[in-house]
Parts: sequence; C-alpha cells; structure tokens
Amino acid sequence: MRFHRFVDPKDLPNFIMDEKVTILVTGGSGMLGYALQRVVKVEKRPNEEWIFINSKDGDLRDINQTRKVIEKYMPTHVLHLASAVSGMFRNIKFNSDVLLTNQSINTNVYQVCKDIKVKKLISCLSTCIYPDNVTYPITESMLHNGAPHITSIGYSFSKRMLDVMNRCYRMQYGCNFLSVIPTNLYGPNDNFSLEDAHVIPGLIHKVHRCKKEDTPLIVWGTGKPLRQFIFSYDLAKLMIWAIREYNDEENIFFSVDEDDEISIKELVEIVVEESGFKGDVVFDETKTDGQYKKTVSTAKMRQFLPDFKFTPIREGIRETIRWFEENYETART
Ligand code: GDP
Repeated sequence: MRFHRFVDPKDLPNFIMDEKVTILVTGGSGMLGYALQRVVKVEKRPNEEWIFINSKDGDLRDINQTRKVIEKYMPTHVLHLASAVSGMFRNIKFNSDVLLTNQSINTNVYQVCKDIKVKKLISCLSTCIYPDNVTYPITESMLHNGAPHITSIGYSFSKRMLDVMNRCYRMQYGCNFLSVIPTNLYGPNDNFSLEDAHVIPGLIHKVHRCKKEDTPLIVWGTGKPLRQFIFSYDLAKLMIWAIREYNDEENIFFSVDEDDEISIKELVEIVVEESGFKGDVVFDETKTDGQYKKTVSTAKMRQFLPDFKFTPIREGIRETIRWFEENYETART
C-alpha cells in the first residue's frame, strides 16, 4: 500500500511494550484520524488496541452521548482530535459556532476522561491560536501572552482553554492531560471546500477546477505570508510517539523546522507544478492575508526527536493531489 513509504520505523524510537493499553481517538475520521488509522495499521504494537470514533458514534457536544461512547471502550489513553476546524475565511464567518462547538466537545470529553481515570489524554491545539503580536520564533510557553489574530478568535480561545483545562485537571485531580501543537496541517482526506478549506486543499481543488474550465487560478491575498506546513502522516507518527512516550507537563510544537517555512507564493508554485496547471495565476490582494507569519521554534521537539524526518512538502502535496483526484466524488468539498 502506498502509505508504507511514509512510515519508516527508524524514525520512531523503541517503545516499551508491556502493559495493555486501549487508545481511543476522537475525531477519528478527520484528516489526522485518517492518517493515524493508516500509520497505526503498520505501527501498532501487540499491547495496543486502537479505537477510532467519529460523530456517527455519538455527538460529543452532548455529555450523555459522550459518556456513553467513551465508557463503551473504557480507554486507558485518549487522543482527542474532535474539533470544529476550518480555514481562516470560514472562521471569520462562524467564530461563534466554532467557539461553542469546541467548548462543549472539550468540556464533555475532559470530564468523562477524568471520571473514568484515563491514564493519559493528549489534545491537539494549533499554532494559529498563539498571540498575533509576538517575537519569533514562537516558543510553546508564549500561548497566553497576548490576544490571538482577530480572524479566528472563537477557534483560538476554545483551543487555548484546552491548555487551561490541562493545567486545572492536573492541579485538582492529578490527571495526565496535555496538548501537542502542530503547525499548518495538510494531507489526504482534508476538507477541500473551495470557500472554507485551508489554503492547500483549497488551492488543490481550485487548480483542479481551473484545469477543467480553462480559467486562471485566483489566489487569495498577496502570497507573502509564511507558513510551516506539516504533512498529516508525519503528524500521525508524532502523535503516536506522544501518546506512548511524551509525558512532559508542558505542551510541545510539532512542526517542520524554521528553514522549511515557505511563502504562500512558493506553495502556489508547487501546487501548480505538481498539478500540471499551465494557466495564469492571479493574486487577489483584496482578500485578507491573515497573519503574516507564525514561525515556531522546533527546539523542544528536536530535543526529543533529533532525527525525525519530515516528508518534503512537494512529496506531501503530490500525494494529497493524487488522493484528491482519486477520491474526487467522495472527498469533503
Ligand atoms: P491560516 O491563515 O494559517 O490560519 O490558514 P489558511 O490555510 O486559511 O490560510 C493561509 C494563507 O493562505 C492566508 O494568507 C490566505 O490569505 C492564503 N490563501 C490563498 N489562497 C487561499 C485559499 O484558497 N484558501 C485559504 N484558506 N487561504 C488562502
């Protein structure tokens, strides 16, 4: 199977394989859940049972349904990925919905995990929730040092509260709850909506349409913003490492290194080349750029994983385009 080439056991440290663990993944059918399912197929250890749940198993905004679905499996470990998440342009429109949805889901999941004495819970934040006005590179501890970018305040504060909850649950109940913080994520099974997706799936879908209709590609903004993009299969490997090995109370960034940060313009060039698009590319500067950059330091991650190799962006984009073309009829758009 194709995903094998993303999983090199040499990238992962040797884990202790003694006690039986049941790892429950919420949001198991999203982009990261999809990547995790594929990596786990290859990397699963004999002592591990992995369970992936999604909204069809229960509505995590409802405490009773949350309790029912989590208690059904009685996990020892939880990777909490379920979340309302979208690109900047959708966040602007639905800040309130995103805030309320995420708050309900997070409150319910944490409460039930505390009640059933989950040994470790890891939730997933995002670097876009960091203060808009910071010094670079951003380090993990700067999370609450200022307001997030106005475009996604609902999303950002709902995610910042996960960090607050980690600390409160640890202080009051001794729970081993913590968060990891990836940079801009992309990969197969993302949401490829033309209007509401993040930049990579949005561009892939737009280029697909421009090729079909022989029209120019309109890119939103100036193309100047910089981003560190992480491929979902890489993040899946890092999440597996974290649920097995990472026990530091403080959060950790998961990102390609600072040298691998690229501009939206460079990204567009890669998507255009890998899609074989020959038409014109126009930057619509009337659309907002959002944050100029949010460069994070990978110093902490590199202390733990000095040799972890990330998928080069061109390769990850090629794989994502291939997935989109092959799954065009059923992809989330
Ligand atoms: P974020 O700004 O890092 O939260 O994430 P996005 O993926 O939504 O946007 C990243 C950057 O890509 C912004 O500077 C956008 O202006 C730019 N961009 C260019 N074209 C698109 C597009 O089609 N969709 C989105 N979401 N962003 C785009």
